[in-house]
Amino acid sequence: MKLHEHQAKEIFARFGIPVPEGRVAFNLEEALKGAEELGEFPLVVKAQVHCGGRGKAGGVKIVKNREELKEAVEGLLGKVLKTFQCPEGKPVSRVWIEKATDIGRELYLSITLDRARSKPVLMASAAGGMEIEEIARENPEAIIIEEIDPALGLMPNTARKVAFRLGLPVKDFTQLALNLYRVYSKLDASLVEVNPLVETAEGGLIALDAKLDIDDNALFRHEEIARMEDKTQISELEVEAHRYGLNYIKLSGNIGCMVNGAGLAMATMDIIKLAGGEPANFLDVGGGANVEQIANAFRILMGDEDVKAVFINIFGGILRCDRLAQGLVEAGKMVELGVPIVVRMEGTNVEEGKRILSESGMNFINAEDMWDGARKAVELAGKSG
Ligand code: GDP
Ligand code: MN
Repeated sequence: MKLHEHQAKEIFARFGIPVPEGRVAFNLEEALKGAEELGEFPLVVKAQVHCGGRGKAGGVKIVKNREELKEAVEGLLGKVLKTFQCPEGKPVSRVWIEKATDIGRELYLSITLDRARSKPVLMASAAGGMEIEEIARENPEAIIIEEIDPALGLMPNTARKVAFRLGLPVKDFTQLALNLYRVYSKLDASLVEVNPLVETAEGGLIALDAKLDIDDNALFRHEEIARMEDKTQISELEVEAHRYGLNYIKLSGNIGCMVNGAGLAMATMDIIKLAGGEPANFLDVGGGANVEQIANAFRILMGDEDVKAVFINIFGGILRCDRLAQGLVEAGKMVELGVPIVVRMEGTNVEEGKRILSESGMNFINAEDMWDGARKAVELAGKSG
C-alpha cells in the first residue's frame, strides 16, 4: 500500500526524522487556513498523488504570497496530474502546503528490499532530486548501495561510512538514516525513499520529499496505517478486487487473465507474451478459491474495457474443475460476455468441468493445454481488438 507524501512526512516526524512543517488541505479554505497557521511565505504547494515526478509536471509550486497560493491550489485541486511516471494521470484531491526550504544541495536516500540479495539495502547518492532515474541509468556507480543484515538492523558504522562518502554532517546523517531504518522495519515497509534529502543552506538535513510503501501482507499489523489508504489513487477495479480478497493488478495489455495461484499466474503471463500477446492484468484468485470468488473475478475482468479476450487458466485441486465450471456459468449469466473466453483447466473432475462448459450454451472456448490456450487467446484478442 502506498502512502501520500504528507502521511509519510507525519510518520517520519514521529520517528524523529526532520521534515518541513506543513498542513494538508482538501479545499481552498483549508489551504488558506493552513497557510495562515504556517505563518510566513514562501510556502510550497504540493499535489498529493501516488506518483513520482510531480516537480517536472507542475505538481510542486513555490508561492510567495496569498494570491499565488490561491492560484496554485486552484490549479491543482480537482485536476488530474500526469507525470512521466504516471502517463495516465492521478486525480489531485488534496494538497500539502509546507514551509519552503532553503536548499543547499539535493541528495538521494532510500531503504528497500533487494530481492536478489534477500536483504534490505540502503541506497544513497549525492546526485539526488529530480534526475535520479537518469543517474541510475547512465551513471550507476554514483549510487552507493549498502547491504543491511536484517538480524542486526542498520549499523551506525554503515551509516557513518555513507555520510563520509556523501560529505554530510556525520552525526545528523547517521541519526536520520537509523531513524529511517526504524520506519522501514517497524512499519513493515517495502520502500522508504527520501528524494531529495536536502542539506540546507545552514547545513542541516531535512527530508524534502517522502515516499513510503507498506507491504500489503503486513497491513493487518498496522491498522492505523491501513486506514490511511486513499482509494482515489487506485483504480476502481483494484479496489473492488481487494474487497473480495483477489490479488489483482491492472496491466497495459488486452488479454484478461484469471488464474489460481501466484506461480501459475506468472507462468500464464509469460506464456501469453511468448505467444505474442500482452496480459491486461495479473489476477490470482488464490489456491483455495471458491465459486463466489471466481464469479467476482470474472466480473472484474469483464469490467476492464481494455480486455479483448480472456484466458482462464485454472488448476483444479482444492477447487474442483466442475465447481469452477459451475462458477463460470453462474457468472456468465450475470455479466455480459462481450469477448471470447478461452478456458484451460486441469485437475480434479476435469471431464465433468468441460462437459458443464460445453453444455452451457455459452461461448467458452476449450484449450487443450497452456500453450494452446495462450495461442488461442492471443489470436482472438487480435481479431476482436
Ligand atoms: P517529485 O518531483 O514528485 O519527486 O517532488 P519533490 O517533492 O521531490 O519536489 C521536486 C523538486 O521541487 C525538488 O527536487 C526541489 O528541487 C523542489 N522543491 C520542493 N520543495 C522545495 C522547497 O521547499 N524549496 C525549494 N527551493 N525547492 C523545493
Ligand atoms: Mn521527489
